[in-house]
Amino acid sequence: MTNTKTRGSIHVSFLMATKVKQTISNNKRPPIVVIMGHIDHGKSTLLDYIRKTNIVAGEAGGITQHISAYEVTHKGSMGADERITFLDTPGHEAFRGMRARGAHVADIAILVVSAEDGVKEQTIEAYKAIKQAEIPYIVAINKIDKPNANIETAKLSLAEAEIYVEGYGGDIPWVGISAKVGTGVSELLDTVLLVAELAELKGDAGVSAEGIIIESHMDAKIGTTATLIVTNGTIQRGSFVVAEDAMAKVAMMTDFAGKPITTASYSSPIRIIGWNGVPAVGTIVKTYTSKKEAEEAVTRVKRTPVTTPALVKKEAGVVVIPLIIKTDVSGTLEAIEHELGKIKHDRVRIKIIQKGVGFVSETDIKTVLGAMDALVVAFHTKADSLATDLAARNNITIHKFNIIYKLTEWVEEIINERAPHIEVSEDIGEFLVIRFFSEQKGRQVIGGKVRAGKITSHSHFKIMRREALIGEGKVVELQQAKIKCAEVPEGTECGMMIESKFTIAERDILIPYVVTKKQ
Ligand code: GDP
Repeated sequence: MTNTKTRGSIHVSFLMATKVKQTISNNKRPPIVVIMGHIDHGKSTLLDYIRKTNIVAGEAGGITQHISAYEVTHKGSMGADERITFLDTPGHEAFRGMRARGAHVADIAILVVSAEDGVKEQTIEAYKAIKQAEIPYIVAINKIDKPNANIETAKLSLAEAEIYVEGYGGDIPWVGISAKVGTGVSELLDTVLLVAELAELKGDAGVSAEGIIIESHMDAKIGTTATLIVTNGTIQRGSFVVAEDAMAKVAMMTDFAGKPITTASYSSPIRIIGWNGVPAVGTIVKTYTSKKEAEEAVTRVKRTPVTTPALVKKEAGVVVIPLIIKTDVSGTLEAIEHELGKIKHDRVRIKIIQKGVGFVSETDIKTVLGAMDALVVAFHTKADSLATDLAARNNITIHKFNIIYKLTEWVEEIINERAPHIEVSEDIGEFLVIRFFSEQKGRQVIGGKVRAGKITSHSHFKIMRREALIGEGKVVELQQAKIKCAEVPEGTECGMMIESKFTIAERDILIPYVVTKKQ
């Protein structure tokens, strides 16, 4: 393993060429780190390992609610404990909402690559997102404990993807780790601190706080809560926070472990309860000391346009089934879209309202909450923990598939279930009313003759008077020679008890009919 100290000089040249987010002030600020990479390469395992091993004892045990970021401490090069904030949302999701608003919350990325598989499609996508965010990153070559692990092959595949790590034609720091066993994780954290040092991340605790929303949701019991990362300044209990058009008085504020706090400063993830709206992920939060100032800010702020999923338009006679689909790679997504496009039904249409590569996210589930009949599909992927929680709380099923034809078969079944049935009515006979006997409690007793076809007990009928349709009714009981029967054929006289809102008259014609449902 390379000594992290020797990497320092190399970092400088790398970081000089990289635009690094800086705040004009004098205090060193802990780094905010995001973990990215291909599915199954070990992002969640790494996040779990760090969470378990590096959260200050006591805090870890006190974690009451899972929030989408956590703080750890790790000994820095000077021997002192230093803070690192991890975004607990693996994959690209942490970036997606942010990018939609041009906000960057992460200072450093860890690109996880499996030592067994090397670079995969999502590794490249993650790499592109990191490049776009213009933040420094570290490659973590994971699963080195596995018998098939081959660090050299992994580095070669990285180089083929133009990710040149140190000692392999480039200056990107890398660490071989086992997220499962913990090998190299401490060294990875050393490297994070070193990269942070070189990035000269600064914060000013003296200014009014700013932050970025990383999670928000509505809870029937406690109201709207939002998790934000303080990007600068200090937030005080009693102040007011504004995120676009949502606002809250900071009365209930907790740290990432759910512990109530009165102040929080830069790089800390915090949760604020009691918003008057649901702030969107990626929204910038500003703080104000008075309610009046906060309210003024709300009215000033124009909501940042975000791409909202296309609304499902009602089409006459056609049932539209909204579908949200996430896949592991974009090629699969295209293949699925192609296959779904082949399913034709004259009364039902599948409409993909949200799609993408990666985990099913909280945003996806929130979309379902707005369109309750939408289906969520995870193809060769899974849901992140926030999405899983939100889906479970709202009884939303995330349908998982690994084989395309199984997915299309299932979609066809759903289409048949949801297809509006066509009802076909068929006349089965003609009955002439000869005698009207009585009417009591909505039930009438009549007698007559089946002139054509037949009449059956419980059949519905149309009532024709002088060739005009005047209403409908239902046979309650049929009788032939005072004996109950199920059916009376053509040419036969019978009596019957019927139900109808209309009073039957002699010489009315009743036309019994049957209704059959067609798919
Ligand atoms: P993610 O999709 O990138 O979040 O991947 P996960 O963290 O869910 O890991 C996928 C699988 O790989 C899980 O079964 C993990 O237990 C396993 N895994 C992750 N890291 C390691 C590792 O370092 N060594 C071994 N042997 N297995 C690992």
